[in-house]
Amino acid sequence: MTSVIRILIWGLLAGSLAGPALAQDGRFESERERMVATQVEARDIRHPATLEALRRVPRHLFVPEDRRRHAYQDRPVPIGYGQTISQPFLVAYMTALLKPQPGMRVLEIGTGSGYQAAVLAEILDEVFTVEIIGELAQWGEANLRRVGYGHVRVKHGDGYHGWDEHAPFDAIVVTAAADHVPPPLLDQLRQGGRMVIPVGSPFRTQTLMLITRDGDRTVSESLLPVRFVPLTRRQP
Ligand code: SAH
Repeated sequence: MTSVIRILIWGLLAGSLAGPALAQDGRFESERERMVATQVEARDIRHPATLEALRRVPRHLFVPEDRRRHAYQDRPVPIGYGQTISQPFLVAYMTALLKPQPGMRVLEIGTGSGYQAAVLAEILDEVFTVEIIGELAQWGEANLRRVGYGHVRVKHGDGYHGWDEHAPFDAIVVTAAADHVPPPLLDQLRQGGRMVIPVGSPFRTQTLMLITRDGDRTVSESLLPVRFVPLTRRQP
């Protein structure tokens, strides 16, 4: 075999090996662009850092492998243990409400896949997240490390109590529905800080609330009917 032919064959082989992987990444990238345009911008989310973060975080790497083809659809996706990764629009909406900026310290309750934490970590350095299901805490943390968000701090525990040793937080986002705002989370919110939390009974429509601390006063705003998995209290 002449060396020219050998090189040609190697070239074809390498092409066919690299091809599918590259094509797949390209496909996800354009799905992601479309997701931001049609599900987020089209619904009036304008916060530039949030849009940019959603464009960058590879959401398909935060869902189980057999669900990847659903990763960019306009809906939540199951991630096991009865939990879901939230719909992209809601992640964007909640992120924008926190008004994240570099220099802020943010606490998330309900790590799940790690996706919401990754979106925040695109914008700021100090992201803390608490997950009550041990397996999900591990999986979410592994996803974050693998994709390059190793600076996110993950804790396995009951997020009702927040994460006292790193308080106060400039913003807190709760990604599971509570029937009341946990007082420890309010205590850990900095003056002028913002908390976004779905409040209402589990398994029914809840209300997404924005809570701000202003001196001794707590100001609550009801924003949107939503459906989240419940904030559970006991370690399973
Ligand atoms: N933010 C996640 C979505 C997770 S769904 C993501 O981006 O993928 C809600 C998560 O909250 C679930 O993983 C659930 O196990 C977790 N959760 C429920 N109650 C909790 C509690 N008391 N403390 C911490 N996590 C809790």
